[in-house]
Amino acid sequence: MANVLWLQGGACSGNTMSFLNAEEPTVVELVTDFGINILWHPSIGLEIGQQVEDLMMDIINGKIQLDIFVFEGSIVQGPENTGTMNFFCDRPMMDWVKAMSEAAQFVVGIGDCATFGGIPAVEPNPSQSTGLQFHKKTKGGFLGADFVSKGGLPVINIPGCPAHPDWVSQILVAISTGRIGDVLIDEYHRPKTFFTDFVQSGCTNVNNFAQKVDGGFGKRGGCLFYEVGCRGPMTRSSCNRVLWNRVNSKTRANHPCLGCTEPGFPHHDLKKGSVLKTMKHLGIFPKDVPTGQSKALYYVRAGWEKVLPTNKVLTETSK
Ligand code: SF4
Ligand code: SF4
Repeated sequence: MANVLWLQGGACSGNTMSFLNAEEPTVVELVTDFGINILWHPSIGLEIGQQVEDLMMDIINGKIQLDIFVFEGSIVQGPENTGTMNFFCDRPMMDWVKAMSEAAQFVVGIGDCATFGGIPAVEPNPSQSTGLQFHKKTKGGFLGADFVSKGGLPVINIPGCPAHPDWVSQILVAISTGRIGDVLIDEYHRPKTFFTDFVQSGCTNVNNFAQKVDGGFGKRGGCLFYEVGCRGPMTRSSCNRVLWNRVNSKTRANHPCLGCTEPGFPHHDLKKGSVLKTMKHLGIFPKDVPTGQSKALYYVRAGWEKVLPTNKVLTETSK
């Protein structure tokens, strides 16, 4: 059995809503089949007020073992590093986060806010929000770069806005069954099993990407990279492999990928013209090119491919 405590900081509860839709396994199966014992959760926990504080004090005093501490939302440190903008059970939430992280065998950050700071950390960041062990791309965050939980791992990050529910439920299973040591994590502490391939792997528009055929928001028959800012080629995530609700993904529904599993999200700090729009140099060359490619080479190759006759055929076919 694994005792889980889930707390929320600077959050919209989106990751909780997502988690409750888990399918493989479901939240109920986590409890009935995989030995997860939810000590408390802000949306489904029965205890309130003093009871929750007593529970957390029992964890701090070693009366209750905490196996997995799950945190959703940014760590709010404002104003002036007091953390009092986010008060919980008579203390700044950030104090509880520190205490629970020190007490737990494993710490899991869910969603972009808990992992990298997310939308609350966009400049000028009035709440002084940050992630558990990263601030955007920089290692450190609230717990510090050297933090390692009692179980010997740094914070396990499951980013996303929100995170896919099955990424969460499957990592909880890996911990509760003693298999987390088999799960490799990348430089941003993301489990490689979900965050190695790009969103583009499995996208139904990938032929149009290769043929440089433009698509449009919500329109069939084109790729969303060229005009409406799809970040599928720059975003490591399994959204087109582990489908949402097991049936679909943003790009399959012709909505651009916003790159929400990368530590730079929201990219360009929500600068005007950066959302659902491809930012370009001279109105022609995309500022962000597929990961791993040199900009100059990409521009030359893409320009050549764009004028190949096959594009005309595809464009006409898709009309
Ligand atoms: S729509 Fe996005 S993910 Fe799909 S092929 Fe185009 S750039 Fe790649
Ligand atoms: S498709 Fe992109 S924006 Fe949408 S959930 Fe996946 S990584 Fe996030």
